[in-house]
Amino acid sequence: MKKVGIIHCQQTEDVCPGTTDFKVASEGKLAFEKTGPVEIVGFTSCGGCPGKRAVFRAKIMVDRGAEAIAFASCISKGTPVGFPCPHYATMRDTVARKVGNNVEIIEFTH
Ligand code: SF4
Repeated sequence: MKKVGIIHCQQTEDVCPGTTDFKVASEGKLAFEKTGPVEIVGFTSCGGCPGKRAVFRAKIMVDRGAEAIAFASCISKGTPVGFPCPHYATMRDTVARKVGNNVEIIEFTH
């Protein structure tokens, strides 16, 4: 079972505890259809705008076993308020460089 660390938007954590992220991850659905059910080894926010803390938080999750980093849909799709993160592309690309090519980047959760 693949190990995944999830990063979510600090601006939306008051209205979303990540329930659907955990559900689709454990069931291998939506963003996890390709991997099948995954084990969540970390669930952390980006640390607040502009998301720089996500880079170090992703690296810590990889150091603790994550084989993939997933950006929750609150970041890339803007759920549930319809407001995608304006810093997403920079955050994703910087995280990808920090964690290296062996770590898969998953761009949404559901
Ligand atoms: S940087 Fe993006 S993901 Fe992080 S709190 Fe700000 S809007 Fe949300």
